[in-house]
Amino acid sequence: MKFPSIRQRVVEMSVLLADHGYFAATGGNLALRVDDEHIVVTPSAVDYYRMEPEDICVLRLSDLAKVDGERKPSVETGMHAQVLRQRKDCQASIHTHQPAASALTLLGQPLTVHNAEHRALLGPQVLIAGYAPSGTRWLSSKLQRVLRQDVNAYLLRTHGAICCGSSPERALHAIAALEALACAHLRERIAARAASAGPEQAALQKLIATLDANPIQELIA
Ligand SMILES: [Zn+2]
Repeated sequence: MKFPSIRQRVVEMSVLLADHGYFAATGGNLALRVDDEHIVVTPSAVDYYRMEPEDICVLRLSDLAKVDGERKPSVETGMHAQVLRQRKDCQASIHTHQPAASALTLLGQPLTVHNAEHRALLGPQVLIAGYAPSGTRWLSSKLQRVLRQDVNAYLLRTHGAICCGSSPERALHAIAALEALACAHLRERIAARAASAGPEQAALQKLIATLDANPIQELIA
């Protein structure tokens, strides 16, 4: 088996993301850069808790030809390759259907990042890529249009999020930072609505209390 340790790392990251609710069922995938020519990517439709290093696909970055592994690579491989080709500074690309950030994709707006710690991980803004169906070249091209060297987090319209990082750890921190930012943004919008009273005020206050009772946890120490 080629590159066993980095394939093991993909398995560990997938389990971590599933444990924290960022990957659910088989929704969510990730890619790591191995060297100048190769990437490893999660397989399509394999339960994260049954995944083994040999299930991870080794591909050539230039044309996505399979180098090692029996499984079919994730349907979003093209999107990860797009990120890792354009962002030579990045070692990791993670796509999630994380709850708060995915909810924000329905609004279709970019987010400004104010917090200094979050800016270091995400960049000055979180940008939004236009809608295209999952797993299509069309989706990769929508992302390509908005990809920037200084932005590490993107919302995919009515779908989910993708974050990249200069290391697997930085990408994991970016995922948690994006969720915290998305949660704070949603809370602000809900609080503004609740302040204007109306019959739904009690329900909105309850929603705020639920958000406050469940702060976003870091994925890694
Ligand atoms: Zn997806």
